[in-house]
Amino acid sequence: MSFPYRRSAATAASAGLLLSLGLALAACGAGGGGSEQVVRVYTGRHYDLEEAFARFSDETGISVEFLNGSDSELRERIAAEGEDTQADVFMTVDAANLAEAADEGIFAPLDSQVLDEAVPASLRDPENRWFGLSIRARTIVYSTERLQQDEVPTHYADLADPAWQGRVCLRDSSNTYTQSLVASLVANRGEEEARRIVAGWADNAEILANDVLVLESIADGRCDVGITNHYYLARKLEEDPDFPVGLVWAEQDGDGTHVNISGAGVTTYADDPELAQRLIEWLATDGQATFAGGNHELPVNPGVAADDLVTERFGTDFVRDDLNAAEIGRRNADAVRLMDDVGYR
Ligand code: FE
Repeated sequence: MSFPYRRSAATAASAGLLLSLGLALAACGAGGGGSEQVVRVYTGRHYDLEEAFARFSDETGISVEFLNGSDSELRERIAAEGEDTQADVFMTVDAANLAEAADEGIFAPLDSQVLDEAVPASLRDPENRWFGLSIRARTIVYSTERLQQDEVPTHYADLADPAWQGRVCLRDSSNTYTQSLVASLVANRGEEEARRIVAGWADNAEILANDVLVLESIADGRCDVGITNHYYLARKLEEDPDFPVGLVWAEQDGDGTHVNISGAGVTTYADDPELAQRLIEWLATDGQATFAGGNHELPVNPGVAADDLVTERFGTDFVRDDLNAAEIGRRNADAVRLMDDVGYR
């Protein structure tokens, strides 16, 4: 198989990024010798990987090849390829995808002090098979033209209130972001309360196919409030600082805003697990700001700052739901069934 994307130390050198911290030390640590070192990544995450991988290659001399695809396709492919897989690292978005990959035996557990220190416990597998590398907060967004600040709902359950009938836009139930949010409601509040909330959403909301449509529908006046991942709004505000949608961090007096992750693990049959581990460690530390900030996501590493736009427009000092990502993954099937039961499409 050939990899369509390749960042080697040689091709990336012209990018002018060689002055990054830690380059020479890292390259020495690779124990290189003559033959070229390559880490191969299968990734379901599509956002801005090239810059992070290019910097990694510049700093370490290790080339990165990556193959893009859908999360489930790549997961199944690694499982089917077994010992013959070329994937050293599987990278994906959403806790449920990571948990499922772990259940299928795709990931090897890592013993890494670097990752233990860089990634908070709630954002990695309790058995150290996968590690969150960036955070996406799923929170309440609203029209800044039609709502006063004190009218903005601040709880997910508020959007189930009949007062918001016909004024809400939400994303469909087939999406993992929606599923993980509902899974967190089930875990935090129990099945019955989660069911009440989701049934109320189904009554009130227009259900749309993606987060961008939710934001644009609020801007266009089709609805007044919705729920999206924060980085979609960040992208809109980057294009147009006056985009008329605002964000509020939900559940600040309770469980905290629901957060999900993108993350990665070393595959069970990686050709060179040490190199693969080094890439993941680098992404959680030296490469963290590039990896997370490229898509306006939040760093998992508490020692790394979010990008300027997110920091200035949204603020990053908010209470986050610390429900373990693995627990969210485990509740996925319950969430899907519940949404189906109450007619949330
Ligand atoms: Fe996304």
